[in-house]
Amino acid sequence: MKPPTPSPLTLDQLNVAALDDAVHWLDGVYEHSPWIVRAALAQRPLKTLAQLQYVCTQVVDGAPLQAQLDLIRAHPELSGKAMVANSLTAESTTEQASAGLTHCSAEEFATLQQLNADYNARFGWPFILAVRGPRGTGLSRSEIIATFARRLQAHPEAERHECLRAIHRIAALRLNALFGTTPEAGNAVWDALEDLATLSEPAYAAQGQLTVTYLSDAHRACAARIAQHMRDCGCDSVHIDAVGNVVGRYESDSCLRTSSGRKGPKTLKKSKALLTGSHYDTVRNAGKYDGRLGIYVPLACVLALHQQQRRLPFALEVVAFAEEEGQRYPATFLGSSALTGHFNPAWLDQVDAQGIPLRQALQDAGLDPDALPALQRNPADYLGFVEVHIEQGPVLHALNLPLGIVTAINASARFQGEVIGVASHAGTTPMGQRRDAACAVAELALFVEQRAAHDGDSVGTMGQLQVSAGSVNVVPGRCQFSLDLRAPTNAQRDRLVADVLQAAHAICARRGVTLTLTETLRASAAPSAPQWQARWEDAVSALGLPLHRLPSGAGHDAMQMHTAMPQAMLFVRGENGGISHNPLESTTADDMQLAVDAFTHLLAALAHEIDTANTTATPHPSPTLHAP
Ligand SMILES: [Zn+2]
Repeated sequence: MKPPTPSPLTLDQLNVAALDDAVHWLDGVYEHSPWIVRAALAQRPLKTLAQLQYVCTQVVDGAPLQAQLDLIRAHPELSGKAMVANSLTAESTTEQASAGLTHCSAEEFATLQQLNADYNARFGWPFILAVRGPRGTGLSRSEIIATFARRLQAHPEAERHECLRAIHRIAALRLNALFGTTPEAGNAVWDALEDLATLSEPAYAAQGQLTVTYLSDAHRACAARIAQHMRDCGCDSVHIDAVGNVVGRYESDSCLRTSSGRKGPKTLKKSKALLTGSHYDTVRNAGKYDGRLGIYVPLACVLALHQQQRRLPFALEVVAFAEEEGQRYPATFLGSSALTGHFNPAWLDQVDAQGIPLRQALQDAGLDPDALPALQRNPADYLGFVEVHIEQGPVLHALNLPLGIVTAINASARFQGEVIGVASHAGTTPMGQRRDAACAVAELALFVEQRAAHDGDSVGTMGQLQVSAGSVNVVPGRCQFSLDLRAPTNAQRDRLVADVLQAAHAICARRGVTLTLTETLRASAAPSAPQWQARWEDAVSALGLPLHRLPSGAGHDAMQMHTAMPQAMLFVRGENGGISHNPLESTTADDMQLAVDAFTHLLAALAHEIDTANTTATPHPSPTLHAP
C-alpha cells in the first residue's frame, strides 16, 4: 500500500519520507522514468525545489546515451497517435490540452502529423517541447508549429540536448504543480517585459519585431512605461534624466527618519545607495530580455519591500539605462557613461544614418544636452553597482543551471585587416606559384580558432571575410577581414593578441602576401569586485544551487560603471541554446523568479552587514526570501 501523495507536497515531507514513498510521490515528474527521481532523492536532504530540479538534470546528464534516448522516446508525440487513442499519461493530457492541441483544426492536425513523421525520420525520436512554455501558461498552436518546423532543421546532437532541456522544463512545471508553487515574482517580471515589448518602432512592429533604438518614439514611450512601472512598484521618486535614463529610487530607512523630522540615532550618517539596473534600448529585431531583465528583477524586489512596508539601511537606485547597444550612433554606453562622467561632449556631434546629430536628437526628445555633466554620480554616495543580465550565451543552458556568477567582463581588442596577394588566372597559375590572399586569411582564421581555444576562456572571431570583386576563375588578390579577440584579463588578452599578430605576419611572409592590420578597439577587462562577486555567490548558494563562475563575453553597462565603483553581475540562463540579439532569446518565469530570489537574498545580506557594522543603529529586519 503506497501512502497518498500529500497535496501540496513539501520538501520537509520529501526529505524524511522512505525512499520508495518519495519516489512514488514524484512518479510522473519524468515520463515513465522513475529512475531519475530515485537517483536524485538519494541526495536528500534537498534544500530547495530548484536544487531538486538541478539534481535531476545531473542524473540525466550522467546517464549513458542509450538511457537518455530511452527517456526521450518515453514521451508521446505532440498531438500524436497516443492522444488520438486517449492513452497519454494524465500529465501529458493536461499539458497538451493547455496548449489547445486537443482542439487542432484539421489543417493543423495534418501539419503536426507531417512534422511528427519528418522529425522521427530525421532524428529517430519524438519531438519534445514543453508546451506550457516559458511562462507556464501554454504556447499557442502556431508557436508550437513554428518551433517544431525550426527544430526539424537542427543538428541531431543539438536537438537531443534541446529535447532533454524540454524534458527538464516539463519536469520543473510538474514539480511546481506537485509542490503548489507559483513563481509569482517571476511571472510579474515576465508580464512587465511582455508589456514593454509591445512598444517597438513601427517599421519593425509591422513585421512583429522588437526594435527600440535610442531616442526613437518607441524608445521615449518605453521610458514613460518604465517610469510608470517604477511608480507602480513603489519607488519613492522616479525621473527621466537628461540622457534618457529612467531612474527610480527606493529610499533607505534613515533617509525617511530624517526627512520625516523624527530624530535618528546621533551617529547616523546619510546612508549610501546600491546602484543597479541595465539598458532598455535594443538591437534591431531583438529579444525581449537583453538589458530589460536587469531593470525588472530589482523592481520586483522594490515591490516586495514596498508591499511589506520595509526599508533597508541603504537606498536602492534602479536605473534603466537609455543606450547601451550602439545601434543609432557610433558611441555606445551613452546611458551609463553619463553616470560615470565619461560621456564625451564630442559625441553630441555624431550623426545617425539620417544625418541627425545626437545633440539635436536629444533636444527633439525634450532632453537638455547641457544638463548631461550634472548626471555624474559621486561614487562616495554608492555602495556599488550590481547588474542582472540574461547570459546571451549557451553555457548555463548546457549546464542546466538557471544562474551563473560573472567573474569579469572580458577585455577585448578589435582589428580590421587586409591581405594583398596577386589576382591571377585560376586555371593557369600552378598551386606553388600563387599569392592567394584569401587562403592566407583562411589560415589565420584557423590559427585564431585554435589559439583562442587553447586558453579555455578566450574567444577569437573573424566575422567578416571579404574577397571584394572576386571571381570564380580568379585567385583572390585581396581579402579584407575583421578580427575580434577577447579574454577575461588584460594580460591574457594581450598574450592572445601578440600570438595572433605574430602568426598573421608569419603566415603572410611565408605566403608572400602583404598584410596591413589596424587596431580599432582595445577595451580593458572589468573584473568583478571580489566582495560583490562573493555576495552573488552567497545568494545563489542560498537557493541550493551550485556555483558556476564564468566571464562575460559581451560588454555590459557594468563595464562602464566599473570605472566609477565596484561592480558584479549575475547571469540568468537563456532558453533556445542561450541565443541572444535574436527574437528567439528567451528565459523562463521560473528562472526570473530565482533571479529575484537571489537579488532579495543579496539585499538582505547587505542590510545585515551594514546593520552589524553600524552597531549604534537600530537592528534592521531582513526582508524575507520568496518561496521556495
Ligand atoms: Zn544587454
